[in-house]
Amino acid sequence: MSYCLIARDHPLHGPYHDREYGFPIEDDNALFERLMLEINQAGLSWATILKKRDAFRQAFAGFDLARVARFTARDRRRLMRNEGIIRNAKKIDAAVENAKRILALGQPFASWLAAHHPRSKEEWVKLFKKTFVFTGGEITGSFLISIGYLPGAHDENCGVYRRISRLKPKWATSPGAATR
Ligand SMILES: [Zn+2]
Repeated sequence: MSYCLIARDHPLHGPYHDREYGFPIEDDNALFERLMLEINQAGLSWATILKKRDAFRQAFAGFDLARVARFTARDRRRLMRNEGIIRNAKKIDAAVENAKRILALGQPFASWLAAHHPRSKEEWVKLFKKTFVFTGGEITGSFLISIGYLPGAHDENCGVYRRISRLKPKWATSPGAATR
């Protein structure tokens, strides 16, 4: 079943599907949050992540890149004790390391992504593996679909598909997109 059908009238998935999934994001902290949520989802359900979202925001300083990049060993211990989030040392380390790496890009994350567009999924995965940590094929692909860089977030007969299309997401502006 597609996410559009799963999300219909669903208390948790509905609002995310209707207002966030597949919509372009320009804000760097919001992009960082989405990447972190996708990383934390690995091996778990998206529902689990949505349920923990507020706790994540609180634990990770609102996903403020500059603040997370400065997290210390003490912050990591605090996070490992926080039952509201996913207590996985590798995922927590990935948040801090990726915040540092995003800040080290030398330009806003949103600009960096735009500068590398268009790219096939395979090329994106290669680039993400080289640039960030904990960004394998599935996580990178899900992240790029969820921010509108790769197609496939919504069924074509979903109302949100039409709304997003009007916002000119990146997947719709790549050469050959119309034939996909
Ligand atoms: Zn949909």
